[in-house]
Amino acid sequence: MHFPVELAHAAGALPVIIQEAEDPITDGEGAVFSFYCGYNRSVADQALKGRLKFLDAIMFGDHCVQLLGTADIIRWHDPELPIVFEQPVSSLDMDWAFDETRSVYVKLKEDVEELLGARITDDALKASISLFNRNRQLIRKIYEMRVAGTTDLSARQMQHIIKSSMVMDRQEHTGLLERLVEAIEARPASRRQGMPVYLSGHLCQAPKLELLDMIESTGTVVVGDDLYHGYRFISTDIDEEDDPMTALANWYLRKNEKVPCPTRADGDADWDEFLVRDMRRTGAEGLIVLVAKFCEPHMYYFPEIQERCRREGIPMLKLETEHDSMPMEAFKTRLETFVEVARRRRRHEKPESKQERSHAQC
Ligand code: SF4
Repeated sequence: MHFPVELAHAAGALPVIIQEAEDPITDGEGAVFSFYCGYNRSVADQALKGRLKFLDAIMFGDHCVQLLGTADIIRWHDPELPIVFEQPVSSLDMDWAFDETRSVYVKLKEDVEELLGARITDDALKASISLFNRNRQLIRKIYEMRVAGTTDLSARQMQHIIKSSMVMDRQEHTGLLERLVEAIEARPASRRQGMPVYLSGHLCQAPKLELLDMIESTGTVVVGDDLYHGYRFISTDIDEEDDPMTALANWYLRKNEKVPCPTRADGDADWDEFLVRDMRRTGAEGLIVLVAKFCEPHMYYFPEIQERCRREGIPMLKLETEHDSMPMEAFKTRLETFVEVARRRRRHEKPESKQERSHAQC
């Protein structure tokens, strides 16, 4: 999540963000604790099935303790596969955070150079930074069009855009994005009808597409998100004028100002404050929080989000998701109730019963 993929690109590699696989977890089920999140269990499963052998190396960050265990499983199972572990500071508002982050990234650059037998020059790194910025800017433009209501791209389609950016060659992906933006501008669509909602949560793994479809099929239109497979991934550019290693360190510290990350400690950032502000900016009238089961960093922050929504009168629904089994029918019922209660609020009607209030914020 906090790896500056530009470093790998500048060394001539194709950086790929490992995705949660679709198939059921089998080999990995017994390899990591059952109370690890679906993403971790899926990554361990893919490693044990030999599906990550196409990689020259894996880089892990310390963004949660569960990943430490998954890195160990992969090391144990495949000692030949180099694992690089990056540990940038987790307390972002400390005086020493910048210097420490920069030195971690300098060490990471040396590790990548040694691994790939390539030298990362400043010019190559600047070129990669510029390409990746362009890619992020184009996706942000599509997000703006969605807020403006000039594109009718669904939540599913937005995820396809982000996920392909995570795994494809960025030059090729950027070319495709340019064509897509041109096509949208040439023939703007009007926004689909429905209650505008905001999606929050899901770190590391992408929400399942059928869940996104279900959310929008119950009378909502997703107008914004802070998902990792969403706006969080493309929120922050890297300064193209600065010394590139300094710029990377600043990017790491600054992206928390744009979209606060629950895996980092930062006294200056408030996730709930950000959500309220961003919901106003995007015109969202309801918040759907997607919590990947056993995601500790997310669970630490959820009570604050819940309390803030209650104080602000924001309709909020929490859906806890799993890798293998999700109670889709139960989700559908809860979503329909949520939409109905939120619509009543919009019409300045109070929820009629205690039961409705608990459905609106559960
Ligand atoms: S989804 Fe949460 S628990 Fe899982 S790896 Fe990411 S931060 Fe850790």
